Amino acid sequence: MIKCICRILKILLVVAAVCGMAYHGRIKEDFENYKMRAVPALMYHSISKRPAGWTEDLCVPPEVFEEHLKYLKEHGYTVVTARQATILLKSRQNVMNTVVLTFDDGYVDNYTQAFPLLKKYGFSGTFYIIGKDVGKTLDRNGTIQYMSFEQLKEMHRQGMEIGSHTMSHDPLATIKPNYLPWEIYQPLNLFYEKMGFWISGIAFPNGSFNDAVIAEIGKYVKYEYGFSGVPGCNTLKLVQERPFEFRRAGVYDRGRGTKDIDRALQKCYLFGYLEDKGISAEFLDKVLTFVQETIH
Ligand SMILES: [Zn+2]
Repeated sequence: MIKCICRILKILLVVAAVCGMAYHGRIKEDFENYKMRAVPALMYHSISKRPAGWTEDLCVPPEVFEEHLKYLKEHGYTVVTARQATILLKSRQNVMNTVVLTFDDGYVDNYTQAFPLLKKYGFSGTFYIIGKDVGKTLDRNGTIQYMSFEQLKEMHRQGMEIGSHTMSHDPLATIKPNYLPWEIYQPLNLFYEKMGFWISGIAFPNGSFNDAVIAEIGKYVKYEYGFSGVPGCNTLKLVQERPFEFRRAGVYDRGRGTKDIDRALQKCYLFGYLEDKGISAEFLDKVLTFVQETIH
């Protein structure tokens, strides 16, 4: 009798293992299919050695950044601008291994370091600029220099995309509604006036937004898309249904070289895939933060 039960259990285990593998295989295949219609976007800030007093999340040294670009090249990635990504998605092309590299705040090292490296690898970058800081040198625990309109114009001429990071960089969900037009509309005019082309994208400072922000951006037809701070991937569904809630994740220099960019990319794909299956990225992000805080 016991022998018989053991045999049945063994058979059940084998069946479960086979089913498990098949299920796993199906998920893997489904995940790979998802990647054909999903574009991750990665976020950088300053491409420099970290000045004293700066948080490590803001700086990736140029040699590490070049390692990241080499990694993308060697793994067959195509790097396009955010606007190009929306066009590819709308055309329903296979976007497997297509990625967007974005740079926030407009630090001058984006021009002196990131721009030449991107060109060296045949990649395009997307740069989100704070309207009131263009060309300025500020002193915040050391000297911070921002790109000038001339530099931005040159980058644009050479295939880079320039976008808005609002006028003041205050988190949009926290400012008074009557200041929203200035933060959102003003960069459109300013950049056109100073550089002679219309921008089409905006990245929200600190990823902060709410319904009033989305409604305000929706008033201006020049804006085609906006980046939230929600991790995940960008798909045709997002472009069509929520163009001002594009997904992206930050790349941080944790001293692990290419593992840092690989991790950010996998986070985008995984969050995007789960969101595609109906699990919200906001919820996942909260769970992840909770797990990280709970398990040290
Ligand atoms: Zn910023």
